[in-house]
Amino acid sequence: TPLGKPKESQGPPGSVWPKELIALEPGESAWQVALKKIQELSDSGHPDPFMVADLGVLASHHRAFCQALPRVSPFYAVKCNSSVWVLRVLDTLGTGFDCASQVSLELGLGTAAPRTLADTCLGTRVCKNPWHLSQPSPRLVLRLLTKDSESIFPLSTKFGASLEACERLLKSARDLGLAVVGTSFHVGSNCQTPHNFRQAIADCRRVFEMGRAFGHDMSLLDIGGGFPGGEGCEPQFEEMARVINAALAQDFPEGSGVEIIAEPGRFYAASVCMAAVNIIAKKAVLESGGRRKLLYYLNDGHYGTFRLCLREPVPRMPIVVKELCSDPPLFPCTLYGPTCDAFDKLFREEVQLPELDVGDWLVFPSMGAYTSSMSSTFNGFPPASTYYAMEPELRPGMETVQKRKKKKGKGMNVSGQSE
Ligand code: PLP
Repeated sequence: TPLGKPKESQGPPGSVWPKELIALEPGESAWQVALKKIQELSDSGHPDPFMVADLGVLASHHRAFCQALPRVSPFYAVKCNSSVWVLRVLDTLGTGFDCASQVSLELGLGTAAPRTLADTCLGTRVCKNPWHLSQPSPRLVLRLLTKDSESIFPLSTKFGASLEACERLLKSARDLGLAVVGTSFHVGSNCQTPHNFRQAIADCRRVFEMGRAFGHDMSLLDIGGGFPGGEGCEPQFEEMARVINAALAQDFPEGSGVEIIAEPGRFYAASVCMAAVNIIAKKAVLESGGRRKLLYYLNDGHYGTFRLCLREPVPRMPIVVKELCSDPPLFPCTLYGPTCDAFDKLFREEVQLPELDVGDWLVFPSMGAYTSSMSSTFNGFPPASTYYAMEPELRPGMETVQKRKKKKGKGMNVSGQSE
């Protein structure tokens, strides 16, 4: 493919335009940006791994979320992809932030327009440090255990109170003078069935009734995250939303005075990024029975962008960036990362790929969720750089944020007040 020279990223005159931000020309796509970057890095002799984030995807996913779940306010789960550019776009779009730690909270607050803390950030992590709990009058949310065996990343073995335990907990809270204001749950990340949401919402209703019986002012329902994300994912978000809306209409009808929020991460971020990796070494193995198997060693792996992929049941299929004959023979391939650890491979299973060479590139789509935010520098390999592509429509938001960032340079403490 003739790829041409990558263009310089250009900001508005007089503005500080960060190098990692790429303003898309009309009609240009993030995929084209990735191809140009591949050419540029190959020419430079330093074909380092990188990601391209298409920030415009955030806006379309936000629209889809709000249209499909009109009664639910999204608080984006910062842990999923905590890049400041992702957070800034989401803040411009008006989401809140679900912050699991002090650093996430500071990121969320540092990003958010000066809305009030309560409007902007939630602190929903269950295992809080004791010193994070020393607030004068905390508003507590009781997290329920959910059925999550059909989620790719279950959470309920670690978190959540059973329905039986809820009564005792609500009573203890009342006796201690603590205010429980609602319930939350998380059906597990990448949930494969909407019915777990339906059951969890029905359980929450029972806990609301219990809470009210103990005198708690139950007014907040947090339906967590778990919505699938990424290209072609199943089940479809809209189908999931239909079941959730019906469950809400039944158990928390409009006019019930209950505020409903969610903490989506993967749904917003997964398809924002693609990851480009380069083959740095290769080994061909002839197995007993004559099967030819290929081992490709890549310059990004389990300790970098692909940390979570080893826990996924099905390997992801990359796009091969190479001109090949129309129907090339495929071989079972194991994809290894660059570190000295033999555990450092991208997927549990082999993938079927053509015969490739050192220096060839593979691009993995839908790598925006739990990738850069989980990568490490193990073995001295730095995390892949990310380039953020955005359409012209998003630029005004970014300029505003640039100005705001300068103002905030004075300092912002965690409670959101200027210093
Ligand atoms: N909220 C909490 C408390 C979580 O633990 C997670 C993910 O682990 C999320 C939200 C985001 O979940 P997802 O990315 O599946 O939407």
